[in-house]
Amino acid sequence: MRALTYQGPGRRTWGEVPDPVVHDPEDAVVRIDALTICGTDLHILKGDVPGVASGRVLGHEAVGTVHATGPGVRTIAPGERVVVPSISPCGRCLSCRRAVYGQCSGGGGWVLGHTADGTQAEYVRVPFADSSLHRIPDGVTDENALLVADVLPTAFEVAVQASGIGPEDSVAVIGAGPVGLGTVMLARLFSPRRIVVVGRGAERLEAAKRCGADATFEAGDTDDDTIRAAGRDGTGYDVVVEAVGTPEAFERCTRVVRSGGRIANAGVHGAPALLHLERLWSNNLTITTRLVDGRTVPTLLDLLADRRLQPGGLITHRFALDELPAAYDVFSQARASGALKVAAFRC
Ligand SMILES: [Zn+2]
Ligand SMILES: [Zn+2]
Repeated sequence: MRALTYQGPGRRTWGEVPDPVVHDPEDAVVRIDALTICGTDLHILKGDVPGVASGRVLGHEAVGTVHATGPGVRTIAPGERVVVPSISPCGRCLSCRRAVYGQCSGGGGWVLGHTADGTQAEYVRVPFADSSLHRIPDGVTDENALLVADVLPTAFEVAVQASGIGPEDSVAVIGAGPVGLGTVMLARLFSPRRIVVVGRGAERLEAAKRCGADATFEAGDTDDDTIRAAGRDGTGYDVVVEAVGTPEAFERCTRVVRSGGRIANAGVHGAPALLHLERLWSNNLTITTRLVDGRTVPTLLDLLADRRLQPGGLITHRFALDELPAAYDVFSQARASGALKVAAFRC
């Protein structure tokens, strides 16, 4: 089959690799119908994720059709349409028993496109198929289901739920990429008083307004005082979500949060950020960091089936599967191309 493989920092190839087969009794092999590229894949290509070996098939976000299952798989059968999420829980370790699947210590967790071959291919082997795969309800499109593989559960669990957004909160989302915009959409379900998005690029800020932001600011040319003034009583925000993954963005969160507020970090960081405890120690702040667990995947699929969530605008560019290298070029030049999520479909 054809697949996109990591070949060491800065190098990727699209070419033939062996077909995956059922290896463990709990495995399923899924034929990929649609897939997307994640910002994390770009981090891997830069060499930021040393756990990824050369030759690894990348990708951890896809939808597909079950092709084969091992004898230990009980709840998923060949022919079913499924979401292949970023996290594959073993279901048995202490973390999984506590529903903290992202921290799985039983051989699962973030496996696909990391420590095992991933989804940017014609087929993928999925471990722990019963607990990893989710059947897609009728009426939910492949495109919408694709967003449930990683971006929407990350926004829901790591940003919205971790910060406990509610009707009394003013919310600032720093970052207008897919996770930032997903955070706006999902935060709206909890009716916060006001949502402000700080991001880069007119197209992304327009998209933020369509997702439900009350106000937007261009990150590059807005000072902290202006952003803070748009929060509660001019004193900042009850909730600030970091959805960029840079020291500058995190440090800005600590300057625009109000006392008593919560900062939820959703960005993937590759460099240290400053935390000014000499100023913040008495401010009653809560700072949360998490990896997505995928706990909310069933709920998100229900919200899509019921049309309570309509995330269609997050996918901006579409390709055939064998155009995946071109999809990478568009996604990695997001500023120039205006890309949010790019999707590639089976030809
Ligand atoms: Zn991802
Ligand atoms: Zn586990």
